[in-house]
Amino acid sequence: MQGTNLTITGQVLDQNGQPVANALLDFWQANSNGAYDNAGYTLRGHQYADQNGYYTLNTVVPGLYPGRTEHIHVKVQAPNSPVLTTQLFFPGVAQNSRDSIYDPSLLLNVVANADGTQSATFNFVVPTA
Ligand code: FE
Repeated sequence: MQGTNLTITGQVLDQNGQPVANALLDFWQANSNGAYDNAGYTLRGHQYADQNGYYTLNTVVPGLYPGRTEHIHVKVQAPNSPVLTTQLFFPGVAQNSRDSIYDPSLLLNVVANADGTQSATFNFVVPTA
């Protein structure tokens, strides 16, 4: 796939900071040109966190589209619990300051690797029923 390869890793935690085993994570995003695939749903998919709440997403850095800064949509849900619907953002993007949905608490921790790929981390805190 065209674009900058990005690997996001992190943990799903409950509101006491405890790992949430088997949390559902459903990600969707634009491609590197800022386009969503609303026919075949490339770049949309779900996974489950492991027994310790850890997840890994292998994707590409999303492109810009009109009116928005770079972002990745995500729904995160502990088993049998309410769904958290949120977005992840990228540091250093000029459009962040002009995006009404942008929230600095939702910034990925991004590291640029020597091979041109990027690695990022983000931990989610979700409600548990
Ligand atoms: Fe979007």
